[in-house]
Amino acid sequence: MRVLAVFAHPDDMEVHCGGTVRKLTRDGHEVLEIVLSRGDNGGRAEVREREARRGAEILGVEEVIFLDHEDGRITVDPESVDALREYLRSYRPDLIFTHSPRDTHQDHRRTYRLVTAAVSKFPEVSVLMGEGPSTTPDFSPVLYVDVSDVIEEKLEALRAHESQIQRGAISEDHVLRASRYWGARIGAEHAEAFEAFRLREGLLLR
Ligand SMILES: [Zn+2]
Repeated sequence: MRVLAVFAHPDDMEVHCGGTVRKLTRDGHEVLEIVLSRGDNGGRAEVREREARRGAEILGVEEVIFLDHEDGRITVDPESVDALREYLRSYRPDLIFTHSPRDTHQDHRRTYRLVTAAVSKFPEVSVLMGEGPSTTPDFSPVLYVDVSDVIEEKLEALRAHESQIQRGAISEDHVLRASRYWGARIGAEHAEAFEAFRLREGLLLR
């Protein structure tokens, strides 16, 4: 399976679906990450880019691609949709992970809109949306992935974003609280939860 993670900022993939990504790469699936902005509102762009590459490496992600959206001002216009479609056309993912529209962060909501606009021409791709500190209480997961055996790797990838931990933007505590909360729903110690924009028949996530 070919998987694409499309997130607004350099640390979002790790927080929203780091455990699931690690399970997929461990099982031999290919994962590519697209980060829309370099996150320079939360630190120096080159530091954040380096942290993202390190986090991705820990999770077994093949490649990280940075698009040049402005942090805090991710745009959903025809040019941005076309740019993302170019990657979909060349990479042909079976599954995309992205943000939920039920999120207080405007960049995250716009990322959701951008991805869902882009996939309108790719009916075969499944789209799942993960949970993070800024998703709202009406986040409604339909799919859970047991990440108990990769939780240490998820935390290690999170720690790669040292600049964000230092400024309190992300924390191990939050990630663990969330993964235990979702885990309780399926009788696992730790889980990640996903909403679905589109779920193709035959998509298997263990
Ligand atoms: Zn973000």
